[in-house]
Amino acid sequence: METRRVLLVEDEKSIRDAVVAYLEREGFWVTPAADGEAALHAFSLHNFDLIVLDLMLPKVSGEDVCREIREKSDVPIIMLTAKGEVDDRIAGLELGADDYLVKPFSPRELIARIKVLLRRSHVTDIPQRDFLKYGDLELDVGGHRALLAGKDLDLTVSEFKLLLVLARYPGRVYSRMELVDKVLGYDFEGYERTVDSHIKNLRAKLGDDPKEPRYISTVHGVGYRFEAQG
Ligand code: CA
Repeated sequence: METRRVLLVEDEKSIRDAVVAYLEREGFWVTPAADGEAALHAFSLHNFDLIVLDLMLPKVSGEDVCREIREKSDVPIIMLTAKGEVDDRIAGLELGADDYLVKPFSPRELIARIKVLLRRSHVTDIPQRDFLKYGDLELDVGGHRALLAGKDLDLTVSEFKLLLVLARYPGRVYSRMELVDKVLGYDFEGYERTVDSHIKNLRAKLGDDPKEPRYISTVHGVGYRFEAQG
């Protein structure tokens, strides 16, 4: 298998060094960056398969780094956040991060999550063409793209997967737990709010009004459902 390139953005040297050592031992090619500016510079020079991004950074904040990267790329991003900063974690997901880890975290858990995200984003390497079409909305499964009236919605890996799971079976209600399981592939703290954040992003991109959704309905107390009529 091809070597995976990871951009690690962390200003605390001890954490940065430990994570670099761990990732290298696992066979990853790691580019460390100590602040937001260095991160954006590295991002402009290389193609990365995944980004591990600390939220609290000097020069350019993790939030701004995430926002800038998301304007150009749907590369998987794992946010690192300080303990207890729930709002920060949610903010990270709303900016388009795919996952987050709360400090202090074990390097082993970080590796496990990196592998899950890489598996998800590389499933689409398989050159299959599979299209789902509902009204103006078209899902290009092989191409990993969602188009609305022909326009690419630029979904992140998690958003696309979530939309695909829902749209495969229109009318079927999925609980948040099921969506966590199918989309994120494992269970972790704050899962409901993670799914809710991704749904919120998806609706914004689809131009879906949560009060009168055209595509994704909320089933109160249960979860979400894709509306077939589009
Ligand atoms: Ca920091």
